[in-house]
Amino acid sequence: MSEDAMRFETRAIHVGQDPDAEFGSVNVPIYQTSTYAQPAVGKPKAWDYARAGNPTREALQQVLASLEGGSKGLCFSSGLGATTTLLLTLKPGDHVLISDDVYGGTYRLLARVMDRWGLEFDTVDMTDLVTCRSVVRENTALVWVESPTNPFLKVIDIAAVADLAHKAGARCVVDNTFATPYLQRPLELGADVVLHSMTKYLGGHSDLIGGALVTSDDELAERLSFLQNAIGAVPSPFDCYLVLRGLKTLGVRIRQQCATATAIAERLERHPRVEQVIFPGLSSHPGHDLAGRQMRGPGAMISLVVRGGLEGARAILRRLSIFSCAESLGGVESLAEHPAIMTHASVPDAARRALGISDGLLRLSIGLEAEADLWADLERALG
Ligand SMILES: *Cc1c(COP(=O)(O)O)cnc(C)c1O
Repeated sequence: MSEDAMRFETRAIHVGQDPDAEFGSVNVPIYQTSTYAQPAVGKPKAWDYARAGNPTREALQQVLASLEGGSKGLCFSSGLGATTTLLLTLKPGDHVLISDDVYGGTYRLLARVMDRWGLEFDTVDMTDLVTCRSVVRENTALVWVESPTNPFLKVIDIAAVADLAHKAGARCVVDNTFATPYLQRPLELGADVVLHSMTKYLGGHSDLIGGALVTSDDELAERLSFLQNAIGAVPSPFDCYLVLRGLKTLGVRIRQQCATATAIAERLERHPRVEQVIFPGLSSHPGHDLAGRQMRGPGAMISLVVRGGLEGARAILRRLSIFSCAESLGGVESLAEHPAIMTHASVPDAARRALGISDGLLRLSIGLEAEADLWADLERALG
């Protein structure tokens, strides 16, 4: 069957992953090598050195490109390795527009690393398209979208922001980590490049750090391929193998995680100790309709504000036993965290308050445990 005719789940298992020619291994081998013997001097078979390329990485890059509907996939040692490589396609004096609640590591890279290098940036609430249009500048080269955002799960209109970026002569990148290509395909909505932290849902088992970029823009793909090797933030063959393994179950995992998250969000919304539940699958969420159009499901991240402020939130985290208190997300195990103390601690107090990250805010990553067990755990912890 041609790749184009295959559905998502089939592509996740087969694209780039034909049984190997010599032994018929149905899994892509882990090519644990740093270099390659050259049949003739200066004439390597595919690559001369494993920073430039590796068959395990190549398989992963092909299947990721297919799942995102792009022509070129590139993998990196972390999500931030992918971010750094993408930012280095820009030049000093260029301007980047990011959303006000962009991933903290992305913000830190722009504010405390690339600033010395002459890259300018502004933050904006990208749900407000009018303001977003007004802060685009002549030198804006990249508009950085994340949707849904973290921790407020704001849903950004990707098609509208991509259009706005293009009218300004800029490219649009979408960090698709929270949604995954199973739920949302930004390239089809007009984005130029998609970024992933493979650490989260793509790997799916909380056992690796990795990043990826996918694009159909040939000029950008060529520059990124060059930079992947020139900068060298490349993933290990073993980590590529783990992501290949994780991707095979991406569809079933996400379907189940969305279903469990929806059920739990609905129950939390009715719980007297819960002040507010933030989840794109609830009709109370301001991005509910847009999420319905732009995504195939609501995702499996839930944010909630509990009564009792900091002490109330701490007590709940202490009492949870199935949910682990940990940063990160997207694995088979459910996690709970306190953004103000944990993931967003590096955001200055005033900025955190302006964003609305209160002391009673908790963020849940819903995994694959039985829904009834997760609910029992939450109900006991909420008291
Ligand atoms: C985790 C994360 C990143 C960074 O990825 P690493 O693999 O941790 O470097 C970027 N964006 C989002 C949305 C993330 O959740």
